[in-house]
Amino acid sequence: MIFKTTTRYAVCAALYIAQHGKQRVITAGEIAAKRGIPYSYLPRILSRLAKCGIIKSFHGGREKGYRMVRDANEISVFDVFDMFEGWSREGCLLRPANEDCMCPAHHHWKRIQEEMFAPLKRYKLGTCLGVPAR
Ligand SMILES: [Zn+2]
Repeated sequence: MIFKTTTRYAVCAALYIAQHGKQRVITAGEIAAKRGIPYSYLPRILSRLAKCGIIKSFHGGREKGYRMVRDANEISVFDVFDMFEGWSREGCLLRPANEDCMCPAHHHWKRIQEEMFAPLKRYKLGTCLGVPAR
């Protein structure tokens, strides 16, 4: 499957913070260094993850960076992919939400999507990290 470069880096960064950001604050520089993500991608990725409430950013004081604020087993791989790919905003296979779409799969598209996304919804960040569900 082909994903946007930003999406791949975002999933990677989210996994890193889920793994290490429970106990301490993680800086963008650390993620860049440990996961080989170009630093220039991280401000946008991290602020989006923070805006969606997956991580929390700390700007002032001694602690600067990001922490995990939710249980890694509550966040599905789909949540992160969708945040950056915008799948749930897509209306159809051929075009964005559009009642005049003439594609032959139009009436099936919702169900096709559901089936495609099911495994991504089932897998949580915690699952990927081997964290047992509570
Ligand atoms: Zn269509």
